Amino acid sequence: MIQAGMNVARLNFSHGDYDFHRTVARLVREEAEALGYPVALLQDLQGVKIRIGEVQGGEVELREGSVVEVRQGEGETTASCVYVRYEALLEDIAKGEEILLDDGNIRLEVVEEGEDKLLARVCEGGVVRSRKGVNFPQTKTSIRTFTPKDREDVKVGMAIGVDYVAVSFVKDAEDLMRIRRFLSQEGLPSFPLIAKIERREALGHIEEICEVADGVMVARGDLGVETPLEMVPIYQKQVMDAANKRGKIVIVATQMLESMREHPRPTRAEATDVANAVLDGADALMLSAETAMGRYPVEATKTMHALISAAENHLFSRIPVMYERKGIFPEAIVSGAVQTARDIQAKAIVVFTQSGFSALLLSQLRPAIPIIAMTPNGETYTRLALIWGVYPRLLPQRARIEDPGCLKEAEELLLQERWVRHGDAVVFVASSPFLGSGNVIRLHRIGDPLGRSFCA
Ligand code: PEP
Repeated sequence: MIQAGMNVARLNFSHGDYDFHRTVARLVREEAEALGYPVALLQDLQGVKIRIGEVQGGEVELREGSVVEVRQGEGETTASCVYVRYEALLEDIAKGEEILLDDGNIRLEVVEEGEDKLLARVCEGGVVRSRKGVNFPQTKTSIRTFTPKDREDVKVGMAIGVDYVAVSFVKDAEDLMRIRRFLSQEGLPSFPLIAKIERREALGHIEEICEVADGVMVARGDLGVETPLEMVPIYQKQVMDAANKRGKIVIVATQMLESMREHPRPTRAEATDVANAVLDGADALMLSAETAMGRYPVEATKTMHALISAAENHLFSRIPVMYERKGIFPEAIVSGAVQTARDIQAKAIVVFTQSGFSALLLSQLRPAIPIIAMTPNGETYTRLALIWGVYPRLLPQRARIEDPGCLKEAEELLLQERWVRHGDAVVFVASSPFLGSGNVIRLHRIGDPLGRSFCA
């Protein structure tokens, strides 16, 4: 899968025990290193996924038209009483609101609020099995994400050395601040957080969420249950716009190549969905069941890679957008670098970066040429694997761009990896940590003495 184009592996902490995640993480790290590709690890926290408990005999049918009791707790669900593991059930859910079971396959409507239970009519019935998910799409729920389990899971994630944490069922910026505060106490105040947008309530707070998060994931699985399905494509575009405007990472997830769970080729509709997500500004597209339990994990990865590459070729024909914010040095530098690269028909932009920030800014402008990010920092190296159009490379030690040895090394790498040939133009970009106090754009023709580069 790494050879087929996988840049990021998700460790889904809704499933599997800690040993399993440690083993997967070690395997990914080892294989990535052996192959010489950076692969980032993304820890996905379970969050406040609400579920029913055990079901009598493993499964029962909830008959359409019948009225059932809905109770809070761990009890066994039967055809006449559904137990939901949600403490605030009676306080939060009101008469007239919907309760969805099993990804929305079964729909109940609350017809009466009692002292210790709700009564609900089964509007769309079906067979329900143990531990299926529950959604309250019309309810303002009071519980917050970052549960005690999430807290323990984050500690394990940090020990494993994950590169990103995805926070499930985020409602507003405060949900992210809770985990930010925790990570600050652990000495990681700026650890990259991805807010999973899968609740209706998050859509109303998307601007503030994008301010606080480092990226967002359009988690269409739960979003398609929490909101009307016909609105999911619209919400996807709105969420992507909000994140793109702020230069934040965007991941689009779930059912991208769903039919490849069973078949070696995707449908035309899936191919189009993948391409549109790229054209709308996604940094990464996520496969879930296709690779977690499907029959064709490698083919699905290859197919995704091919679809993304084709869409990117089209994307490249678009005119790059400059940063609109005026007076901010890093944005001005990367805008200038992208514009200059176009003017001199450069074959690559090489960015020397400590934290990865300059590479992220460059990526947001979607230049038509590869961004080779050279960093001496191992964490930055793997993290950048998630970022659109960026090819991270490790520098052996802390380097300075005014040092000709450093530029020489970059030039040799570009030639060796066949990004460029003799006579091609490249643009070097470096930000403060590499220069003491300044930023630089340096134009260079491969093969020319490095002293003859032009600096801005
Ligand atoms: C989703 O709901 O689309 C999603 C990505 O989350 P999960 O796979 O954890 O359900």
